[in-house]
Amino acid sequence: MKCPVCEKGTLKKGTVKEVMFGVYLGEFPAELCSVCGESFTDERTTRKIEDAAKKKGIWGLGKKTKITRTGNSLAVRIPKEIADFLNLKEGREAFIHPEEKKIVIET
Ligand SMILES: [Zn+2]
Repeated sequence: MKCPVCEKGTLKKGTVKEVMFGVYLGEFPAELCSVCGESFTDERTTRKIEDAAKKKGIWGLGKKTKITRTGNSLAVRIPKEIADFLNLKEGREAFIHPEEKKIVIET
């Protein structure tokens, strides 16, 4: 089967190590592209990965948030679930920096 992403490679059976938000979820069977390295999992495996993420309490941690204005700066609301996951507390210092098209906040 041809890779639907790069349309150059062929898909071979293998395994993929799933990491979500920096948390290792385990190794799962997948089809891997020989050229771009993209991995594809079937519906059953995708559900298993979802279950593993739920067990680790990280399922649904990626959320939409709005950028608001506060004085001359912009503010990003951190959802409660993410704050709880990282054990963030009000008043704590954090280091913020850009990384390509992302903003990284280190706590
Ligand atoms: Zn590919």
